[in-house]
Amino acid sequence: MFQILTSLISLTVLTLVISLLYFYIFKKNNEKYISYWAFSWTMYTISLIFNIFLLKYSGLKLLIALKQVSDLFSSLFLLAGTYVFIDKKIPNYWIQFTLVNLIWIGLSVYYDLSFITITLLTSVFFSIIAVVTGSMLLKHWEMNILEKIIIVTIFFVWGFHKAYYQYIYPGFWNSPLGYMSEIILANILNFSILIIYLQKIRKELDESEKRFRLLAENAQDLIYLFRFKPSLIFEYVSPSSSSILGYTPNEFYDNPNFFEKLVHPDDKLLFNILKEPNASLSEPIVLRFLHKDGHYIWIEQHTTVIKDTDGSIIAIEGIIRNITDRKLVEQKMIQAEKSRQSLLANISHELRTPITSILGYVTAFIDGTISETDSKNNYLNLIYNKTLRLQHLVQDLFQLTQFESGRIAFNFSQISICELIDNIINKYKWDVKHAGINFDLENYSNNTDLDDNVIIDIERIDQVFSNLIFNAIKHTPKGGLISVSLEKKLKNNMEFVIIKIHDTGIGISRKDQKCIFNRFYRGKNANSLNLDGSGLGLTISREIIEFHKGEIWVESELEKGSAFYFTLPIFRQ
Ligand code: ADP
Repeated sequence: MFQILTSLISLTVLTLVISLLYFYIFKKNNEKYISYWAFSWTMYTISLIFNIFLLKYSGLKLLIALKQVSDLFSSLFLLAGTYVFIDKKIPNYWIQFTLVNLIWIGLSVYYDLSFITITLLTSVFFSIIAVVTGSMLLKHWEMNILEKIIIVTIFFVWGFHKAYYQYIYPGFWNSPLGYMSEIILANILNFSILIIYLQKIRKELDESEKRFRLLAENAQDLIYLFRFKPSLIFEYVSPSSSSILGYTPNEFYDNPNFFEKLVHPDDKLLFNILKEPNASLSEPIVLRFLHKDGHYIWIEQHTTVIKDTDGSIIAIEGIIRNITDRKLVEQKMIQAEKSRQSLLANISHELRTPITSILGYVTAFIDGTISETDSKNNYLNLIYNKTLRLQHLVQDLFQLTQFESGRIAFNFSQISICELIDNIINKYKWDVKHAGINFDLENYSNNTDLDDNVIIDIERIDQVFSNLIFNAIKHTPKGGLISVSLEKKLKNNMEFVIIKIHDTGIGISRKDQKCIFNRFYRGKNANSLNLDGSGLGLTISREIIEFHKGEIWVESELEKGSAFYFTLPIFRQ
């Protein structure tokens, strides 16, 4: 008797420990079916406690009834957990069946019926549940044949034993063999279920790892897992590191501080946030990394922090996306917005000045401040010049906005360089002479290449000549020299004619040379001499030349003069 008691108590404690283990697993993984199974084994532990009492009060029918009820719920929870395990809802008839059992047990105790009668229906219930649970797991759980045989045998033997051993051992409340075999079978079952659970977890882990690898290996973004504990190490770096940063995953595995090495000096502070244990990393971080080629790329980094149970960060999972193209577009948009704003400011400034003067003169006419005929003529001349300037400005602006919006139409035609230059010279030589400046056409007469043709919009190229020649006239003192020369060059297998317009004027400072092609930019020289102009002529000339696939540039020295060059591609049939 003592022996039975001690073994029964130890096995009860073992069952209790196992049910607590289930609760622990449930707390960790929050899987519903584990909680059902935990309750199942708790109910089973309670049933075993009743068994212990039955050793002493073997005739107490209420104890038997309570034991049967605990067994009943233990089986129901086992079944319910198994349904959840296979992602199904437990059918209602099992609940109804349980209720019938409860009523049966209650009535049998109430009417003081025999032990056999009290336990009869629950015995049938247990055996059915054992068969159903066993077959469900068999159907839905991938096992090899040996595992199948073991699981089915355990379930069947346990179910039938539990259901019918009281009939095999009529005095079973005192039968050590009866107890022992039942508890041993129950615990074997318990362990089998744990193995089922572990297998499922392993399979899920394998599958999620496989999915992760597949995603990571094929992703265009760089995906990595960086561990802080137990030591700093890259646990995984996807192969796209080679295409994004130029470095292979192995180079990261070899050096846990690899990213730190690549980060742009100005972004170091931002990067350090990643290493802050308490930093909120819900927002992506945008910073620059050095590519193996030596250029910086913009990246956007999303990070997920992995913490252990006490809340400290053990690893971070990161996704790095190359956003260099996006950044460039953003920068261009910011630039475009800035230049739009400065254009508006410049336009209103440029227009306001002549309009204010014109208005002033006209007011003076109206209120009679200017009354003498001579002054009137002078002021009318001034108004005329200012209006002319205004007209030029509006024309230039209109043309420039058309260039910038790409809406300008070009009228191309073929012309020999010789004819082009003849036209130009005839057109402007009188203007130059009229300003008291000498004019020369270098290397023109003995240049044999002038029969070559160019395809150009003659009117627009004339506009470029006009801008450059009138600029030269404006900035060259009387008695100076303006010369035009031509040269042929080969660049990237393309033939070009280089046209040079040189003057011996005031020259342009180095600083101004960099800016004079910007719109509205007027050099210090022009401003200090109070020369007329809007700072749009060279901008428009550059647009026209670039439209002809040519280039325009300046070489100049202060007080010595300036040379403006532009190229036009030569046309060969
Ligand atoms: P604008 O002549 O209306 O001021 P441009 O765009 O034609 O505008 O020229 C921009 C600036 O370049 C001028 O303000 C002047 O400072 C400088 N520049 C252009 N051509 C010459 C030149 N031949 N000699 C000296 N400076 C020049």
